[in-house]
Amino acid sequence: MNELPAAFIESLTKHFGQEVATSIQDALILEPSISIRLHPDKPATLEWESNSIPWCDEGHLLHQRPNFAQDPHFHAGGYYVQESSSMFLKKVWKALGFENKAMVALDMCAAPGGKSTLLLDTLSKESTVVCNEIDGKRNAVLRENLLKWGSSNSIVTKSSADKLASVGSIFDLILLDAPCSGEGMFRKDKFAIKQWNPGLVDHCSVIQADLIEQASRLLRNEGYLVYSTCTLNPNENEQNVLRALESGFELSLPESGSLAHESFLHPAMLNGKLLGYYLLPGKSTGEGLFFSILRKGAENQASAEFKASKLKTIDADQLNPECSFQSSNYQSYLEHQDKIMGFNGSLDVLNTLSAHAFITQVGLPVLERKGKGMIPHHGLAMDASSEVDIALSKEEALDYLRKSKSPPATEAKGWKTVGYKGITLGWAKVLDQRTNNYYPSSLRLRH
Ligand code: SAM
Repeated sequence: MNELPAAFIESLTKHFGQEVATSIQDALILEPSISIRLHPDKPATLEWESNSIPWCDEGHLLHQRPNFAQDPHFHAGGYYVQESSSMFLKKVWKALGFENKAMVALDMCAAPGGKSTLLLDTLSKESTVVCNEIDGKRNAVLRENLLKWGSSNSIVTKSSADKLASVGSIFDLILLDAPCSGEGMFRKDKFAIKQWNPGLVDHCSVIQADLIEQASRLLRNEGYLVYSTCTLNPNENEQNVLRALESGFELSLPESGSLAHESFLHPAMLNGKLLGYYLLPGKSTGEGLFFSILRKGAENQASAEFKASKLKTIDADQLNPECSFQSSNYQSYLEHQDKIMGFNGSLDVLNTLSAHAFITQVGLPVLERKGKGMIPHHGLAMDASSEVDIALSKEEALDYLRKSKSPPATEAKGWKTVGYKGITLGWAKVLDQRTNNYYPSSLRLRH
């Protein structure tokens, strides 16, 4: 364990008082807990000893860290490995009445995608969730995680916040899980301790304030901004909320009592005013998290109009898939570089975004042009509605993921999904003499 910086301990004690600060420091020297969140629509079975997480039905706290890479369901979006405090946001969104609600939502700093998948699971499938990540490598990881999650109502963008904000005020809900100094993650991320210094806190605080300002431009009147960080520092948390209140936001914390599990929460107070909540290491089952809920005032600029259709869609009757395909599963289809994307989000939102933001993924890639026909794309197998044609044992499944062996042949020929314990892993093509493995080489398991 690295020594905690003296200036950090000083700021922690000043902000939380001696007793709470000491209990946080005590917790920061323990090993971090390991938790996963099951996909609500995929039948993953939990094979490890675990405890439930009080605020998230799909969340499980594992007694030991398994070798996730050797579990086929990890590669098929059966679950997401996520620290448990982050899952509390589902409770917050529920308390605000967002569960199963159709919303146009933006996850402004989305990679690797833990909270994006949580948001997708909370809102209705008729929602459109735009997931933005500015960093190229992290954007690729985000796309991969959304693909595994089988998400067909998301759009991934890679734009700076000010560029994105030129889209106008089109969002009902923005999650701003801001880049921060990471104080709440110190036991999980030793590098965060190494790079921490008071200057970093100030630097992060300036970036966060700018992101809040851009979020305000993107929100519809009376739209919600959920602001969260994984730091414990008031300059990055309460102070930024205060600044947002001065700039026209209103505080919209859920009614006292509606959050339940309040014993796990620590009120974030400044000058006697409640500005949000903390989940603190030691008090929560997970790492440190701050959140607040802000609402854009009703007296701001008019909401933006959606732009007329610009992107090229194709009709379902123009599809000629070689595999069995339920075209009614997707409301619209878009084509890009021979890839056909099934999209269940709003085309109006997509078209409006396309004029301003750099779009890197739309919905779920489901088919791919090959010669005169269309072969299945890996994304189609990741859709939670996909069914397993060829059931594999664990060893066979790992061989399939490594692309070291072909799956066993079946009587019926043609394109077949292969899967493990009810969850599809990908595609195979059964020929007369052999079966070809179509697991994407870029995702191949290397050990
Ligand atoms: N919400 C993510 C999740 O739950 O998986 C974690 C997001 S992480 C705390 C913050 C993200 O913001 C990082 O992926 C980082 O690349 C991105 N970021 C950093 N600086 C940024 C900026 N100036 N504007 C927008 N995003 C930024």
